[in-house]
Amino acid sequence: MLSDKKSQDDFANISIGDTCEVSPKTFVMMAGPCAAESRDQVMRTADALAEIGISVFRAGCFKPRTDPYAWQGSGASGLKWLEEVREQYGMNIISEVSNYTNFHLVESAADIIQIGAKAMYDHSLLIGSGKSSKPVLVKRGFGATVKEYLRMVEYILSSGNEKVMLCERGIRTFETSTRFTYDLCGAAVMQETTRLPLILDPSHAAGDSRLVGKLALASAGFGCDGLIIEVHCSPEEALCDKAQALSPKEYKELYKRVKDIVALGGRKMV
Ligand code: PEP
Ligand code: MN
Repeated sequence: MLSDKKSQDDFANISIGDTCEVSPKTFVMMAGPCAAESRDQVMRTADALAEIGISVFRAGCFKPRTDPYAWQGSGASGLKWLEEVREQYGMNIISEVSNYTNFHLVESAADIIQIGAKAMYDHSLLIGSGKSSKPVLVKRGFGATVKEYLRMVEYILSSGNEKVMLCERGIRTFETSTRFTYDLCGAAVMQETTRLPLILDPSHAAGDSRLVGKLALASAGFGCDGLIIEVHCSPEEALCDKAQALSPKEYKELYKRVKDIVALGGRKMV
C-alpha cells in the first residue's frame, strides 16, 4: 500500500499553505468552532485563536448532521468568512466536504480539505481529493477498523494526491459514558505502520469539554503530529457540538501545557 512506512524514518512531510509544515519536527495545532455560524462568531473566534498563535483555523460550513431537521451549516457564505480569516490573520483554513456537490467550493476556499468520519466511505470525495493539489485530512469512521480506514485512504493516494493526514476521532464501542471511545491503540498502529501524519481529535471522542484537555495532553505525550480541537467564542451558544466546545480561555491554558509536552519530544508547535 502507498501509505505503508518503508523504514523507521519514512514520513510524508506536508506543507500547508505557505506557512506551515507537518513534519517529525513540528506539531500542528488546528482549532476553531465545529461550524461557521455567522461572520461575527467566526471572526471573534479567529481573533482569539490568532492571538494564541494557532496556524490552522477549523470550521465546517457544510455539516453532515445526523438529524435532517437540525441546522445544516452556513454553506458558501461560511466559506467567504473563512477566506476573510485567512486574509486578516494569515491562518490556514481546514473545512469539511459533506458530499460531492460541495467538494469544489470547499476545495477552492480551504487550505486543507476535511473528509469527515461519516463521509469516509464516499468514493467520490476520496477520488476527488485524490485529484486535488490540496492536503486532505481524513477522519476515521467511527465504525471502521484501522484496516478498512487505511484502505479508504488509499483511494486518495492511488488517485495521485500524496498529501494525506490521518485523524483518529473516536470509535463506537459498548461504552456510553463518553461520546465515542478514543482509540489510541488504533492510532498507535497507524503511526507504526504508515508514513502518513497523524492528527488526533480529542473533541469528538470526548463529546464533553471537561474531558478534552486530559485527552489532548495524552495525545501530545503520545507523539502524534498535531491536534484538532473545537473552540467557540461563546461555547454556550454553539449551534453544533456545543457540549465539547472549549472557550478561547480554556484553550489558551491547554495550548501552553501541550506546548511544554511537545517541546520535551523535540518538536516545535506550528
Ligand atoms: C467535525 O469535525 O466537526 C466533524 C463533523 O467531525 P467527525 O467527522 O469526526 O464527526
Ligand atoms: Mn464537530
